[in-house]
Amino acid sequence: MSMSSSLISKVHKAKLYSDDPARIQFQDFTVTLRGENDTHTVTFHDGTWNCSCRTFRDEKICAHTMAVERVLNITIPAAARQGEPFSASGVHPSPLL
Ligand SMILES: [Zn+2]
Repeated sequence: MSMSSSLISKVHKAKLYSDDPARIQFQDFTVTLRGENDTHTVTFHDGTWNCSCRTFRDEKICAHTMAVERVLNITIPAAARQGEPFSASGVHPSPLL
């Protein structure tokens, strides 16, 4: 197999995978979110959300973790989804719609 056909094969497979984002399941990440007043740090580690804001400290959920979940959608493992948006099946709507 030549270099170029090998690369074409990888590009093809990458497209198949990226067209089906549920194949990707985030396990661990840190992001910053620029809020209205402060920039907050949201982390996801071993299925547990955390945020540097006061609301999260008090309530274990906040607009920042919820916003990150909305962006990452089905790439968040089902067991760790905070339910934004809620659905009867527990499966989020396609992020591609
Ligand atoms: Zn927060």
